[in-house]
Amino acid sequence: MKKIAVYTSGGDAPGMNAAIRAVVRTAHAKNVEIIGILNGYVGMIENKMITLAPRDMANIVQRGGTILKTGRSAEFMKPEYRAIAAENLKKAGIEGLVCIGGDGSFRGAQALLSEHKIPVIGIAGTIDNDVFGTDDTIGFDTAVNTALDAIDKIRDTADSHDRIFIVEVMGRNSGFIASAVGLAGGAEEILTAENVVAVDKIVDKLRESRTKGKSSSILITAEGQKPGRAYDLAEAIRKKSNLDAKVCILGHQQRGGSPTAHDRILASRLGSEAVAALLSGKANLMIGTLGNKIVEVPLDQVTQNEKRGDTTLIQLARILSV
Ligand code: ADP
Repeated sequence: MKKIAVYTSGGDAPGMNAAIRAVVRTAHAKNVEIIGILNGYVGMIENKMITLAPRDMANIVQRGGTILKTGRSAEFMKPEYRAIAAENLKKAGIEGLVCIGGDGSFRGAQALLSEHKIPVIGIAGTIDNDVFGTDDTIGFDTAVNTALDAIDKIRDTADSHDRIFIVEVMGRNSGFIASAVGLAGGAEEILTAENVVAVDKIVDKLRESRTKGKSSSILITAEGQKPGRAYDLAEAIRKKSNLDAKVCILGHQQRGGSPTAHDRILASRLGSEAVAALLSGKANLMIGTLGNKIVEVPLDQVTQNEKRGDTTLIQLARILSV
């Protein structure tokens, strides 16, 4: 291959820039020209492409977001628009793609490969960590640390006023952020899609904590299908018990900020391995990590399976927060 392209797609995640940098500079080291596609599949359809040189990557390793911008494209779900995108790629002489995104973006990449034979390697960039086949995704560690920083601050005021706080973190279908943040932040209960707890039980636990001399409590909830779930929970607790729980919804700040060292290292390794895999003739794979080792996982496996959260961290958080 003489020319490849990289794009970021779906939800943005801190560390995507470190991944782009690794892709560009690894390609340069292997004498391969590299193009950046702007706004994910939107830019692929609209032919928004830029040449990326190693020096263009200066000073981005520490920046959140993505210099290539990201996007969601309803049009790309249709074969006729994928044909336009494929035509644009072929006209630009692009022989392979590195896709940085979540499993939705990988589905798009698979469609492009099966319909237009454009080789693609995926690397998982999403704060949710909900991608099958890899322990870790770019941005997850940063999002957890951002949420944790906020929770540590909330703990100060919760403690000063003897208050109960319900903190809502991101994670629509996945409770990975909630579980990690809950354990690290000393939460008494963590509510996720995998761990649904009846309000009665939560109330019993809060009352028991008070009889044991605990004056403040933190509950963590994943946002679930609609943000604002924490308000419903606070209301339900109030109705059952007269206990007053304050609500804090952390929201999109969890998507931004400078990536942690962990995410920069992960992004650098995955980005570099993705280029190596593409240039050695591989395709239709995601590069991920299992037990800190780099693994190649067929995209079919990634997109056809769901990564289930495990409740071990939640159980441990319960034991440790007495
Ligand atoms: P993520 O990659 O973070 O999971 P999305 O699920 O929003 O984000 O997917 C990003 C984009 O990938 C979508 O806007 C769409 O353009 C494309 N995409 C997702 N699923 C498919 C699919 N089944 N076929 C073709 N393109 C898809």
